Amino acid sequence: MMTDIIHLLPDSVANQIAAGEVVQRPASALKELLENTIDAGATEIKVIIREAGKTLIQVIDNGCGMSERDARMCFERHATSKIEKADDLMAIRTLGFRGEALASIASVAQVELKSKRHEDEIGTRINIEGTVFKGQNPISCQNGTSVSVKNLFFNVPARRNFLKSNTIELKNIIEEFFRISLVNPTIAFTFYNQDKVLFQIPAGNLKQRIISLYGSSYGQRLIPVEQKTALVNLSGFIGKPEFAKKTKGEQYFFTNGRFMRSPYLHHAVENAFQELISKESFPSYFIFLEVDPHTIDVNIHPTKTEINFQDIKSIYAILFAAVKQSIGKYSLSPSLDFDVEHSMNVPPLPSDKEIRQPSITINPDYNPFEKKIRPQNQISFPSSSSQTMKAMNDFYQQEKLPKQNFDIPPSAELLYKEALVDRKKSFQIQNSFIVTHSQSGVIVIDQQHAHERILYERFIDQVERKEVSGQHLLIPVTIHLTPDDLCFFQAWKDHFLFLGFDIAEFGKDSLIVSSVPSTLQDSNIDGLIESILESLKSSIPENKSSQTQILARTLAKKTAIKRGKNLQPEEIFSIIESLFACKVPEISPEGKLTMAILSFEELKQKFKL
Ligand code: ADP
Ligand code: MG
Repeated sequence: MMTDIIHLLPDSVANQIAAGEVVQRPASALKELLENTIDAGATEIKVIIREAGKTLIQVIDNGCGMSERDARMCFERHATSKIEKADDLMAIRTLGFRGEALASIASVAQVELKSKRHEDEIGTRINIEGTVFKGQNPISCQNGTSVSVKNLFFNVPARRNFLKSNTIELKNIIEEFFRISLVNPTIAFTFYNQDKVLFQIPAGNLKQRIISLYGSSYGQRLIPVEQKTALVNLSGFIGKPEFAKKTKGEQYFFTNGRFMRSPYLHHAVENAFQELISKESFPSYFIFLEVDPHTIDVNIHPTKTEINFQDIKSIYAILFAAVKQSIGKYSLSPSLDFDVEHSMNVPPLPSDKEIRQPSITINPDYNPFEKKIRPQNQISFPSSSSQTMKAMNDFYQQEKLPKQNFDIPPSAELLYKEALVDRKKSFQIQNSFIVTHSQSGVIVIDQQHAHERILYERFIDQVERKEVSGQHLLIPVTIHLTPDDLCFFQAWKDHFLFLGFDIAEFGKDSLIVSSVPSTLQDSNIDGLIESILESLKSSIPENKSSQTQILARTLAKKTAIKRGKNLQPEEIFSIIESLFACKVPEISPEGKLTMAILSFEELKQKFKL
């Protein structure tokens, strides 16, 4: 006789299976407990850890507390106070909502919960071990909730044995604690490890929170990032380039109050730091994204930290631009007091409801210089497809993701691509600034910074392609140096050669220059070389730039067109074209802004159109 074979799993088994997803290690249990305290509106939270959480994880909060019945209910699977119907999922603002965490934890540990609502006289205590209810009784306790999770995986030896060393599990716990305390700076936390206070962090703002977690030296290391758009509001801090670490770690994204991992957006930040830090160092960042909850998918795996955004490409571009502008702003005035929490004066991106999706298709063979006018100063550049686009494509290749057609929203290069159409409407004002415009906005270029960028990239490009073009001098120039300076020159000699100089030592105190980079042909060579040596002497040794880069930068600075020089129309076009063909058009080699962009969207806003 055939019997039916399908039956429902007992709750204890179902919970243990769920626990496999929710609670993988002590750190994940801590995460769930902490999220519950935040959802409960706590302002003061204590974390108590023993044996890296293997014997005890206790979290005490002063949040709303639970009634006697809720204290029982919360251990039921799918018991949650946070959503009632499927629609609520779309507007979720709390961290938890699945009603799975406590049930899962209680199925694999010995749990004691004490809780008292502010309005109740007396609290309640409940004990539960491996889903088995051990009793509930009234107790007198403080307002709020305390959950102790003891002997995690006591009934699942395979999982307990699977845990890593205490050092590693504690590191994971601390990492989780950092994530949650960074995103909740207004909540005070105390963290005890083996009965000793490891972190005591008062309520404050984000900057104060970073300082209390990482140390007071961080006060000097942070640059604010701020950008409000219809799609996303960005805020937070990036570390100054010179403090970039050799280790990853201080890299945090938070979306709507949740820690988030995003290799893709990480790439945007890294890209914005390009050239400013060495390949071996990692920029620090603490960046907060606020988006409409309807535009992200939170109904994801409980422990996963990836978030699906509807319009990640635009967010990439906005983030890239915002970080870059913050760096630029900082380089302009490094001494600016960033403690003042005003919003940075960056050109806002369009803030109408729909972020403009430019529909420009990029033709990689397109060469804006085909009909190039060669001005006297011979600025010439190979066409380079935009850095951002290239980087994004690289990224997709690395990650083996399907390649996409990138339509990059408002970034300088995009404005430029459009600017090509209208390039005749460009002019110089005050003998210092070039004004041009595109379909999206008005662009004002600082001719000096821009030309420094152009020359710098040209030098570097020639070195990289080993196509240094030196210009023979009709009459070699002799330069007299002190013996010290001659020694100093020797340390740089090779790099001068790389850049197209031909300089030989002559006797004990002289140099003979017979060839110079072709851009310099008319310059006063001896004065130039002396002043380059002089500024090299005072240049602070940096490990993030190679000597060639430093020399290229100095040379670019010395020889660039200065503010105050009247430019011919061809020179104006050439600067515009060459600048936008640069890899990093927005920032001078010394990190100063080369241009300001005023978008038409912004103008419309200003005029309330
Ligand atoms: P979720 O957070 O997904 O709702 P949990 O299993 O984490 O599910 O918690 C179940 C319920 O228990 C929560 O919805 C909340 O009502 C209650 N709860 C849990 N922890 C606390 C706490 N620290 N303070 C107050 N209520 C809590
Ligand atoms: Mg929860």
